[in-house]
Amino acid sequence: ERTINRIAAGEVVERPASAVKELVENSIDAGATRIDVVVWDGGRDLIQVTDDGCGMSADELTLAVERHATSKLTDEDLVNIGSLGFRGEALASIGSVAKLSILSRAGDSEEAWIVRVEGGKKQPPEPAAFGGGTRIEVRDLFYATPARLKFLKTARTEYGQISDTLKRLAMAHPEVSFSLSDGTRTTFKAPHVAGLEADPRLERLSVVLGRDFRENAVEIKADREGLQLTGFAGLPTFSRGNAQHQYLFVNGRPVKDKLLSGAVRGAYQDYLARDRYPLLALFLDVPPAFVDVNVHPAKAEVRFRDAGLVRGLIVSALRHALADAGH
Ligand code: ADP
Ligand code: MG
Repeated sequence: ERTINRIAAGEVVERPASAVKELVENSIDAGATRIDVVVWDGGRDLIQVTDDGCGMSADELTLAVERHATSKLTDEDLVNIGSLGFRGEALASIGSVAKLSILSRAGDSEEAWIVRVEGGKKQPPEPAAFGGGTRIEVRDLFYATPARLKFLKTARTEYGQISDTLKRLAMAHPEVSFSLSDGTRTTFKAPHVAGLEADPRLERLSVVLGRDFRENAVEIKADREGLQLTGFAGLPTFSRGNAQHQYLFVNGRPVKDKLLSGAVRGAYQDYLARDRYPLLALFLDVPPAFVDVNVHPAKAEVRFRDAGLVRGLIVSALRHALADAGH
């Protein structure tokens, strides 16, 4: 049983950044308004995620580390591109390849509990002290799967991936405050967006993409055949020498798709030299049936039923916005 768990775990948790993604998504699902991540040695020594979400009781903690245990409804109407197919598997998977501890106190309880799992061996919950919410620690990731450990890149590279993953989640969730620390200093901080902000999303994008994004971006708003596109796109004058800062979110979830860079290239071709790339973040909302979730979920890839339609929508929305801005 443990061997099977470890094989499956490799599918969900490929590297430290995938563990961070699963843990932070759980915190968001738990209604957290604040999520703090601490990472040592690129996630190999420690990944710690602390949230102020709903927390778990002792019984819920026991369940949380069981395979296929989920407290979430599998609602067919919800397109969970990022986690569908791995429902209730993240914590069990992490617990089978690392030393996992979950410290938690449910909102309506006086007592906190901690549960530990090491290489798939689950200990019963023990009483603990904790203010509220949940703190999950993953130590010695992949110690139980040396082959997987061998494939990890340098701590610096893994940390970069974690940072990128967290920034994408922060862009999709302006209502939550995030921080990332390497144990010595805080390298990323996205504070609460005050209720007074006219546009929380633009404010959050500016935190991630740079303060001057706000003054150098145009708003994108377009729809076609049931697809809705919103977001902000940087002016051609506000470009970079690489395509690293082009972000796409589908139904609220960060995805990586080649379609985006192609569409952006098409829309900006008259304005930009070939080695320049605009900064942008686009949010596409589509009916569930429009996306194929059979693509490997942990890799954040999607397949659209009609990629041409999506591409056309993005290209024309960007062209119009740039033309309106006087380009
Ligand atoms: P899934 O998210 O697909 O349900 P997971 O293995 O990621 O599966 O988590 C299992 C369960 O543990 C969740 O359904 C949830 O009930 C609980 N859980 C995990 N993380 C948290 C958290 N940070 N706060 C509260 N509950 C959590
Ligand atoms: Mg989960």
